[in-house]
Amino acid sequence: MKSKKIPSVDYFEGLKLIATCPLCDAAYDPVTVRIIEERDDIRVVHVTCQKCMSAVVALIMTTPMGVSSVALMTDCTPEDVDRVRSSESVTLDDALDLHEMLKRPATFVKQLI
Ligand SMILES: [Zn+2]
Repeated sequence: MKSKKIPSVDYFEGLKLIATCPLCDAAYDPVTVRIIEERDDIRVVHVTCQKCMSAVVALIMTTPMGVSSVALMTDCTPEDVDRVRSSESVTLDDALDLHEMLKRPATFVKQLI
């Protein structure tokens, strides 16, 4: 879902829970909030602090008991979050291939270059 969607009322209630930057305590500017995904009663947003430029990705959930949120500090931009969400998952074969490559450090470094 793209960030141009009109936010719901619950979205704004959820934002009250992440109203200030956890690093510098500055109030977030609502203009910097980008909706990454909004589905049913769950919203994922990206917020950038205009004072210290740190960012958080927050999961905002609306339940019958109220609105709650979990926020994680990130160095990702909203575009990074979209790109990672739309990329393919790492498979077990990917992990095994990496494990095999790490057994040969010289070859592994050459493949990275
Ligand atoms: Zn800040």
